[in-house]
Amino acid sequence: MSDIFNNELFEAFASASDHVYIYVCDMKTDISRWSKAAVDYFGLEGEYLEDAANVWGQHVHPDDLKAYTEDIEGVFSGKRKYHNCQYRARNASGRYVWVECKGSVIWDAQGNPIIFAGLMTRIDGQSKYDSLTGLLTTQELHYFDFASQPGIALLIGMDGFRKTISNYGYNIGDELLIRFSRIMSDLCKPEWRVLRFSGDEFLVLAFMSDLREMMNFYKELCRETDTIKLEDGRKVGVSISAGGVLFPKDADSREVLINKLEHSLEFAKNNQRGSLIFFSEEIARNHERGLVLREDLKQSIQNGFKGFELYFQPFISPAFGTIAGCECLLRWKGERIRDSYPMEFIKVLEDYGYINAVGFWVMEQAIRQQVAWRERYGELQVSFNVSYQQFLDETFEERAIACVKKYGADPNYIIIELTESCQVEAPKELAAIFGRLREQGFRIALDDFGTAYASMEMLKWLPVDYIKVEHSFIRELAQPGHDIDYVIVDSLLEMCRRLGYHSIIEGVEDGKVADIVGPLNATLLQGYHYSHPICRDDFEKLLDDGKTRKDGQMIK
Ligand code: C2E
Ligand code: MG
Ligand code: MG
Repeated sequence: MSDIFNNELFEAFASASDHVYIYVCDMKTDISRWSKAAVDYFGLEGEYLEDAANVWGQHVHPDDLKAYTEDIEGVFSGKRKYHNCQYRARNASGRYVWVECKGSVIWDAQGNPIIFAGLMTRIDGQSKYDSLTGLLTTQELHYFDFASQPGIALLIGMDGFRKTISNYGYNIGDELLIRFSRIMSDLCKPEWRVLRFSGDEFLVLAFMSDLREMMNFYKELCRETDTIKLEDGRKVGVSISAGGVLFPKDADSREVLINKLEHSLEFAKNNQRGSLIFFSEEIARNHERGLVLREDLKQSIQNGFKGFELYFQPFISPAFGTIAGCECLLRWKGERIRDSYPMEFIKVLEDYGYINAVGFWVMEQAIRQQVAWRERYGELQVSFNVSYQQFLDETFEERAIACVKKYGADPNYIIIELTESCQVEAPKELAAIFGRLREQGFRIALDDFGTAYASMEMLKWLPVDYIKVEHSFIRELAQPGHDIDYVIVDSLLEMCRRLGYHSIIEGVEDGKVADIVGPLNATLLQGYHYSHPICRDDFEKLLDDGKTRKDGQMIK
């Protein structure tokens, strides 16, 4: 019997409530365990069930079976991140009761499901009001007819609410949600309905078709909630995004409406934060592309990283005018999607937990390549990118060290770039990891420095060797009216010198910018002016042109 069933944790959760039921399914054997309360209430054969999907399916109300099956299939095919569905289920006495079923899948590194676990909550007779905000709950959605009455629905979500909670704590998070929901309710017309959808997401339903009125409402809501004053006088900045759907034009049932609202909100958050975006064919296509992208990426990983390739962009030493090394940048082509850029596919890798597997592949290719070039071109400084979440993998350090040993690389020439340094939630732990990697000889760089307001704060915590100045400051240095950018870059480099860091200026796009940044004495320069990121053969041609430092000395 699988370990996941035989633990005290299961027992503890199972006995915590008599109207919340838990289930855990071992996907390899298709055997699941259900809490005793669920067995009794729904009249199941026993705590352990084989082929539970089928057994449980027979308890689901025939009218709800389609929505239930689609939701479950969506989770296993990767279309949805979580199983989250409300439906009627038959209990032991043959009566149908409303339940809210939420669950998620744990995948192995190859992308196969290993565990499916979740909670089922009886929502029959439960309060129709949310206990925190006093707003209606989603249960209310069962009573609306979306097919015959025209209207507009908005799903409004707070941006980065998880980050707000980690900065301010749960109590402040609750206070914000309460205040936000009050402001929103006050701005809504009395005949509109406001519901708490989930954690930081709210649903507004208006049975009218005046789009302009809805846009104005949203604008006002953004203005009014831009900063929320707390009871203790503190002010917290809040940003929101929203998805909108017209019914019955774009959705004539609850399920379709929720689906399209979620896709539209997701689109707004990813592409136009802060905006209200109405459902369109583009959003449907975007969502579809996301699904294909995920499936193709999974295939690539399972096929030995087929389709992944490293490109190389030279680092130029301003002191010598030669190539001192390069940054390794990931490229990928899938079976069906051939035109995805890192900004897009890396986000998918991060969101679905594939970035670690791919990241180790990148690390190995980069280190192996550094060694392969050594004989012909001397020691090049080779960097590769690592997202914060990759450092959270406990094996990261050990694998980095094993990798340099395996290929005989000198870690002094390997630069690890931390991307998106703004998202670091545990800087002390990260500082310890950096410290140990540096003891082993690795070099650490903070990528895109200067964009996140937390960048400066990061410097206080993190022991690093290089600062890479974010290219948005650099790219337009030569344009009129960008004197401020120059002052920022100049001051950042001065700060690097005083604090003893090396600096890399990236985004040197053309000769004009190169002339401006030249006198700033950065350690290394990088940008389209010298070369775009290029494949290995092309990079080697550049090196063969003699633009390297063959003396093999490190740049100090
Ligand atoms: P980054 O690490 O800041 O990489 C620099 C990006 O700037 C690259 O985009 C590069 O092509 C682009 N770039 C270089 N010079 C110029 C220039 O002169 N002008 C302009 N406008 N852009 C320039 P790319 O290759 O699309 O990568 C985007 C981001 O994706 C990277 O930003 C990095 O954060 C991430 N990334 C790339 N490869 C990996 C990887 O292997 N692992 C992880 N975790 N992230 C990666
Ligand atoms: Mg980088
Ligand atoms: Mg960068």
